[in-house]
Amino acid sequence: MGDRYASFANSGPGRGLVKRLGLPDPPRLRRHRPGDPLIDGPVLLGAAPGGRLAAQVRKVLEAAGVEVLDQPLTEGRHGALIFDATGITDTGHLGELYAFFHPHARSVRTSGRVIVLGSTPQTTAQRALEGLTRSIGKEFGRGITSQLVYVEPGGEGAMESTLRFLLSGRSAYVSGQVVPIGAGTPPVPADWELPLAGKTALVTGAARGIGAAIARVLARDGASVIALDVPAAGEALAGVANDVRGRALQLDLTAGGAGERLASYLSGPLDVVVHNAGITRDRTIAKMDADGWSSVLAVNLLAPERVTAALLDRGLIREGGRIVAVSSVSGIAGNRGQTNYATSKAGVIGLVQSSAPALRQSGITINAVAPGFIETAMTARMPVTLREAGRRMNSMAQGGLPVDVAETIAWLASPGSGTITGAVVRVCGQSLLGA
Ligand code: NAD
Repeated sequence: MGDRYASFANSGPGRGLVKRLGLPDPPRLRRHRPGDPLIDGPVLLGAAPGGRLAAQVRKVLEAAGVEVLDQPLTEGRHGALIFDATGITDTGHLGELYAFFHPHARSVRTSGRVIVLGSTPQTTAQRALEGLTRSIGKEFGRGITSQLVYVEPGGEGAMESTLRFLLSGRSAYVSGQVVPIGAGTPPVPADWELPLAGKTALVTGAARGIGAAIARVLARDGASVIALDVPAAGEALAGVANDVRGRALQLDLTAGGAGERLASYLSGPLDVVVHNAGITRDRTIAKMDADGWSSVLAVNLLAPERVTAALLDRGLIREGGRIVAVSSVSGIAGNRGQTNYATSKAGVIGLVQSSAPALRQSGITINAVAPGFIETAMTARMPVTLREAGRRMNSMAQGGLPVDVAETIAWLASPGSGTITGAVVRVCGQSLLGA
């Protein structure tokens, strides 16, 4: 599972060779450790004339202990560049982007951050912002991520959880994304290190890989976790549940009446539901047998659909609850040999987007994360050439870790993210697939 090339490239002899031969150069990514500051180094904050967010951004960041500058450093590098582009309402004003980013393009630290704030993708000038942020993600390198955040009018008070996530090491493998923040003022956690204190979270497929990491991160953030997996994975599941001081539930989600069994197991409503369980049965469609098709659809799409319905019908997702489903970049881009998997994972995006409007009335959000290449047992089984291509064909020149997906889910699951719904956030290091 380990990435030997990345270890070599970051070693003494490796560094020189990588530079000389122009080989892929995977940086060591900054990942969150409890107690870390949000970001290393000051944030340079710029704004186009008429922007409505810069003052609020400054207030939120300064309260979080971040140094915010409106004049660039003359020495040293910035931890992040944030640009309030909400004032750009006319394409004639897009030059404001050049005026801010051109002189500061080389001023960002390794694993630094670029965030552009817009209002809506529905106007020509605002939609144009996406081309800038996605390109910066590809140009800056050195583990620097770049995102576009659209903040709907009325969503000014809802930015904090997203700014904290995007600036911190929690978003190490998230780049080139567009995050929509809707109007409203979600609750502010009493302690940002424990945003899920007092919450109960269900994580499916929690015995190993990404699911185990999700259980650990949600528990770290204060949640009581119910870790669910198939009976055959019972031992590993018990290990994870013990680690997080949670409960283990052995259940095959494709078994008849699985939703009902889950419902009868629960002693009260859930605050967070994470649909993570998933399988692959890769074959081109010409070679795939009917079981290979239906088993993948059953676990990856029908189970989340039915479990969500069973829980909602019985009032077992609390008002203000959070549902996060794990999709895949394959569900966005398609992938040779994965018609079944990509269909199921595109369906997960459909589930999220079609359910979000109705759930809004009960304050429940539903979002998807779409991992790219993540170092797990699933990707360790890939043929070596495909595996190496998956690792390198992204802006970070390396695979992500299960914790990267887990951190993204924890952000979407947190109370402060209550106005983000129907979104799909890729955790793919800005993979070239479907970009
Ligand atoms: P994994 O195979 O390591 O873990 C999946 C878990 O789901 C296993 O513990 C398995 O027992 C469980 N599971 C399978 N069928 C189940 C069922 N019927 N009922 C209950 N549990 C069941 O996989 P992973 O790499 O950790 O992937 C987790 C999720 O992330 C999956 O949905 C996968 O499609 C998605 N994903 C992974 C990658 C990657 O690179 N690893 C990329 C994109 C998406």
